[in-house]
Order: sequence, then C-alpha cells, then structure tokens
Amino acid sequence: MSAALRLQQLLKPQLGSGRAEITVVEPQPYLTYHPLLAEVAAGSIDPRHVVVPLRRVLPDCRVLTARITRIEHAARRAWIDTAPRGERGTPTEIAYDLLVVAPGSVSRTAPVPGLAEHGLGFATVGAAVGLRNHVLEQLDLASSTRDPALRQAALTFVFVGAGYAGVGALAELEDMARYAVKGYHNLAPEDLRWVLVEATDRILPEESLDLAAHTLAELRDRSVDVRLGTTLESAVDRVMSLSDGSRFAARTLVWTAGVRPAPLLRDTDLPLDAAGRVRCLPTLQIIGPDGEPLSDAWAAGDCAAVPAAPAPSTSSVSSASSVSSATVPPVDVELCAPNALHALAQARLLAENLVAVLAGRPQRPYRPERQDCSTSLGIGRGVAHTKRGHLTGRRAWWLHRARHLQRLPSLDRRVRILTGWFLGGLFSREVVSLGSVEHPRSEFEAGFPER
Ligand SMILES: Cc1cc2nc3c(=O)[nH]c(=O)nc-3n(C[C@H](O)[C@H](O)[C@H](O)COP(=O)(O)OP(=O)(O)OC[C@H]3O[C@@H](n4cnc5c(N)ncnc54)[C@H](O)[C@@H]3O)c2cc1C
Repeated sequence: MSAALRLQQLLKPQLGSGRAEITVVEPQPYLTYHPLLAEVAAGSIDPRHVVVPLRRVLPDCRVLTARITRIEHAARRAWIDTAPRGERGTPTEIAYDLLVVAPGSVSRTAPVPGLAEHGLGFATVGAAVGLRNHVLEQLDLASSTRDPALRQAALTFVFVGAGYAGVGALAELEDMARYAVKGYHNLAPEDLRWVLVEATDRILPEESLDLAAHTLAELRDRSVDVRLGTTLESAVDRVMSLSDGSRFAARTLVWTAGVRPAPLLRDTDLPLDAAGRVRCLPTLQIIGPDGEPLSDAWAAGDCAAVPAAPAPSTSSVSSASSVSSATVPPVDVELCAPNALHALAQARLLAENLVAVLAGRPQRPYRPERQDCSTSLGIGRGVAHTKRGHLTGRRAWWLHRARHLQRLPSLDRRVRILTGWFLGGLFSREVVSLGSVEHPRSEFEAGFPER
C-alpha cells in the first residue's frame, strides 16, 4: 500500500491522462499495521483502526481483492484468483509492464504434535481479537469451575517464539489479565501463569541486543517464566511438553515462532535466496535468473533480501539499464531484518526508483536509517531506545506510541487511535469477552428442534 500510495502521488498526471495504470492485488481490502496488533488484543485500540482501507487511500489505483497465484515475469504475466477466502477459483491472467513484489511473510509453523489442534496464531486482526476473547474466556472458566486441574490449565498461558509478535502479545495480554482478575471474587494476579518459550538464547531477534536484554528483564520482573534455549515438543491433549523436560497443562497455546517469506514467491520465475526471499540490489531492483538486475521488477519488505548497508560500489547508482553485475551484492551480505521500519522506508524508495527509471533518472540505494527500537509491554509499560540511551516504563511507552502513530500510513487512523487512547485514559478498561461474535449463528441454530 505504501509503495502504491507514493506511486499514486508521483504519477498523478500520467494516471489522470490514462498514460499509466497502477493495479494493486491484495486478498484483504485493507493494510494491517501489525506493530499495533498487541494493543488490539489488549483492547487499547479498536480493531478497525489498525487497518487502512485500500480503496479509500488509493482512489487512483485499480484495487483488486484477489490473490496472485503465479507470476511469470519472463512473459510479464501474473495469474489472479478472486475466489473468496477458503474457496478456490479459476485464476485469470493479467499482463503488466513493471512489477512490484511485496507479499510479506507468513508464520513459520513446525510439525509439533497437538499444535494444529490447539495452537493459536497472532498475525491478523481476527487472530488478535480472537486471542483477547479466548484469554478473557479462560478467566471466566477458571472462576466458575470446581475442578482444580481445569482451573490451573485455564490460567496457564504459553507463548512459543519471542519475536515482536510473541513478546508484544504476551506482555499486553498479561497486563490486561492482571487488570481483569480484579473483577473476579476468586482470582488473583498470582494465580495466572505466563510462559514464554524461545528456541534461541535471546528474545526480540529483530531488535538490538540492548533493547532485548531490557525487555527480558522487565518480563522476568513481572514473573513471566521466560525459557530461552527451549522448544515445545508436544501439545497433545493440551499438555505442553518442553525440551527441558517440563510437562504441564495449558488451555492457551500461542504460536509466534518466526516468519518465512510468502509462499507465492515459490510460484514465480524470480530467483530466491536460501531463505526463500527475492534477492535484491540496494536499489530494490530484483536480481534476475542470469544474476543481472531486472530493469522492470522491484521488491520490498519481508519478502525481499535487501542488503543492510549498500556495498561501496553502489553508492552512486546509475540508471537501471546501466547497473552492472558488479553492483550485485555477495550472497553472504548482511540483510535487512523483517520489520515494519524497513518495509515502510523501502516501499517509499521503491516507488521513487520506479519513477526514476521511467524518467531515465538514476536510482538511489536503500540506506537503512538508525532503527528506533521500542516495545509496548502493557499500559504505561515499555522499553525504548533513543539517541541518548534507553528508556523504560511510562516514558518509553509514550515514545513507543508516538513513534507508531507517526508511522501509521493514514492520518484518519492516527486521529481515531489517538482519540481512543484519550478516552481509554478517562474510563476503566473494557475486559469482557465477546467470543460469541465469532459464532454469530449458534443461538439461531439452537432454536431448531433436534433432528
Ligand atoms: C503481530 C506482529 C507484530 C509486529 N510488530 C512489529 C513491531 O513492533 N515493529 C516492527 O518494526 N515490525 C513488527 N512486525 C513486523 C512487520 O509487521 C512486518 O515486518 C511488516 O508488516 C512487513 O511488511 P510487508 O509489506 O513486507 O508485509 P505485510 O505487511 O505482511 O504485507 C504483505 C501483504 O501481501 C499480501 N499477500 C500475501 N500473499 C499474497 C498473494 N499471493 N497475492 C496478493 N497479496 C498477497 C498479504 O495479504 C499482506 O497484506 C510485526 C509483525 C507481526 C505479525
């Protein structure tokens, strides 16, 4: 969306006169701003406010609510499937002149027994709302049951994977549940058990070591049981077996163990790196099958292998046609981490480079700016890095909110979120489960006599 938005601005005259056309193909009719999903799960942000409707912000583009199933760049053809989610249609072919590839990434799952049956994901607005309702339902269940084993399992929450999604969701939900238990006569914050399981020896691999260490200290301070160097071996019958030998029952298992590039990339004729991403020059041009940069295809975001610092030979990059193979970065070059900061900045540059090629001007290489890291860990809690060092607590939380508000690519959404935060400060938190909205037909169906 960000690339299309910038292209729409830069190509305004050509779009108006019909000399150019931008087609955006996306199965969701909106952009999801993932960094604020944890606050959606905690109820601090209305779900509708972290999504930006594509048709509203891209009025000069042709927006197709569809999925690309295949790209044959050699023939400048793509196939799109407009069938609704969960259904399979017959893909139709569209032709193009220039290609922008930005399908992001998907959750990396693993063949853990019981995971498919009991695990919950956390990458969409629906998953964030569903998880919030599920956690609140567990408090209702624990408070109402007389079975101590069931109560214990309902109050045990396991998150696997300590990246943005796992850490943010756990911290925000722990904070919400700690507040919510005040409303139950027989539950106390100490009854809740939060476990974060991480296979590597650190959390937040996308962030600096310093910020990760401060976040870990904050989580442990809040009695979150963080297990580094540990994996989930089984979740059969909702019994968690960890590689450190521990076994315990838990009714909540959230799987946030990293991402892998979007599956679409495997159905293209674009060469991929060992991790399955599209290899790119610092100009974001895709490197073609013959190892030479393509002059009509760009990629950005999680799906793109973009050098973290431009190689010296690319500092003065010439026009697309004159970029030599010498500018192709070595295979072992350090790459940009998959995060929203890189994705948004690359998207804008991509649009500018594409227009530069059309105008015969030189392209610019992507130069990552200093990453302003921060994480929200619940209301009034956070960790953030600034030029002068690190902040924790309320000041870090305010800074985190301000940074994401500024990055959210929609003024309308910024104002709505800000208003919600302001109102949230005036009234008590909403902590009621609306899980029934996920099954809108159940009451109606119950009205039919048994067959
Ligand atoms: C829960 C969560 C929390 C996060 N928190 C942070 C954070 O705090 N800070 C941070 O910097 N980053 C964070 N990230 C990472 C950040 O959101 C991603 O790095 C960023 O969204 C990548 O942008 P993208 O445009 O490459 O991909 P996306 O934002 O994933 O967009 C890709 C789009 O392509 C579409 N698509 C996929 N396949 C197809 C297809 N076949 N046809 C058509 N369209 C397709 C998808 O529907 C999607 O809308 C978080 C991610 C998650 C999931």
